[in-house]
Amino acid sequence: MNSYTLKSKAIPLNTDYDVIVVGGGPAGCTAAAAAAREGVRTLLIEATGSLGGMGTSGLVPAWCPFSDKQKLIYRGLAAKVFETLKAQMPHVQADAMDWVPIEPEKLKRVYDDLVTEAGASVLFLTSLADVERDEDGNVTAIIVLNKGGLQAFRAKVYVDCTGDGDVAAWAGAEYQKGDAVTGELQPATHCFILGNVDDYAYLTGPNLHGDNPNSPIHEVFQSGNYPGIPDTHICNNLVAPRSVGFNAGHLWDVDNTDTFTVSNAMIEGRKMAAAYRDMLADVQPTAFGNAFVMSTGTLIGTRESRRIIGDYILTAEDYMERKSFEDEICRNSYFLDIHGTKEEQQSGTGSSLTITLYGPGESHGIPYRCLTPRGLRNVLVAGRSISCDRRVHGSVRVMPVCLAMGEAAGLAAALAASQAEHDVHAVDVAHLRQRLQEEGAYLPDIGADAVEVNTGEQ
Ligand SMILES: Cc1cc2nc3c(=O)[nH]c(=O)nc-3n(C[C@H](O)[C@H](O)[C@H](O)COP(=O)(O)OP(=O)(O)OC[C@H]3O[C@@H](n4cnc5c(N)ncnc54)[C@H](O)[C@@H]3O)c2cc1C
Repeated sequence: MNSYTLKSKAIPLNTDYDVIVVGGGPAGCTAAAAAAREGVRTLLIEATGSLGGMGTSGLVPAWCPFSDKQKLIYRGLAAKVFETLKAQMPHVQADAMDWVPIEPEKLKRVYDDLVTEAGASVLFLTSLADVERDEDGNVTAIIVLNKGGLQAFRAKVYVDCTGDGDVAAWAGAEYQKGDAVTGELQPATHCFILGNVDDYAYLTGPNLHGDNPNSPIHEVFQSGNYPGIPDTHICNNLVAPRSVGFNAGHLWDVDNTDTFTVSNAMIEGRKMAAAYRDMLADVQPTAFGNAFVMSTGTLIGTRESRRIIGDYILTAEDYMERKSFEDEICRNSYFLDIHGTKEEQQSGTGSSLTITLYGPGESHGIPYRCLTPRGLRNVLVAGRSISCDRRVHGSVRVMPVCLAMGEAAGLAAALAASQAEHDVHAVDVAHLRQRLQEEGAYLPDIGADAVEVNTGEQ
């Protein structure tokens, strides 16, 4: 590719904040709220015009389970977000914990309130444009772009919640992306909402979910009569009156760090949403005959991109062993949910990777060290791009886990910001865990088999 050298020029510098969180998805919202709650000056920078990431701008229609099949395990701010939204959704049972639907407009406002009531400032419609660092691994400024042009921000600590590890990667952190051999990424999905659905007919009609062997989607796909339907993946939830949210079909070769591929996928995804509407109107006319595509995501549904290498890399083996860690900052019980290659999806096998379901009450810990990028001093990562292998990424990437990790990262950022060196690797993890517990996090006592915190890198 040709290159172009930027001319150097002075741009405005803002030094008003101690902690800057980049990316306002589930992880970024709880990170900003947790940091601000500790009394540090906090800014949340978000590329779109609303908070919530995949759960709002991406139109993902439901929360993955909040329980370990016995009790709620994503607590603290995660539970606050979950319960606040649920209370505004009259068709959802008050004690529901698993696969609870999301009305995206309401969730946007839940996040607005969470972040602003904690005292954080929000800067919408602003994208990270560059990151500057020194030789010791300190980020010295981030450069952002919005309608005001380029602007620099200098904080003490930065929390990367972009989902793609943009801050850390651009600061030079090591990362992995996709399959180690082929580079293959999990496919994307462009989620959408159908409006004017006959909700009684929908709720009493056949279960459309692709995991249901009797779902009409299997016949639809095998018939070859609906070329716009790429495979049998279809999750769906009543998200509001007469409105059904869909996470359906896959788009391959989409890399969220390559905007041309994302742009093409959004065009394809909108076509696909229309094809699903037409197919559903055909096979379930009572429910969907008068339905229309009310909305498609303003963000493409990205399951996987960069995984930043941290002081510890969580593995699928840790997951299988239900491992506890001395420095764990939350527990996770979601299964290894990995969407496979085009061949796997279209042949009906779904994925070649093991999918493991925990029994009731089972979970594993996520160490703080998965949030601390190797080689960077004042940067934390939370959400989809934490330090983990590709298989366990299929589990830790989902929203309840991201909410819990975000709260830990925000608290840790506030602690690091109040120390002289702003070194996230030097945060007192016992104190961090105690503060998380005081704020309601589910961090059961760590047993004798817990893995000790090792200062050496793995
Ligand atoms: C199709 C699909 C279906 C899913 N289904 C479920 C489900 O049913 N239940 C569930 O719980 N989870 C589900 N997930 C997983 C989950 O939604 C995401 O993994 C989760 O939202 C990740 O949270 P995050 O905070 O790390 O990132 P995101 O939710 O991706 O949020 C990142 C935010 O950062 C902003 N941003 C990114 N880059 C920049 C930048 N450079 N500058 C400024 N802002 C930036 C984005 O605009 C976005 O708002 C699904 C994911 C997909 C893609």
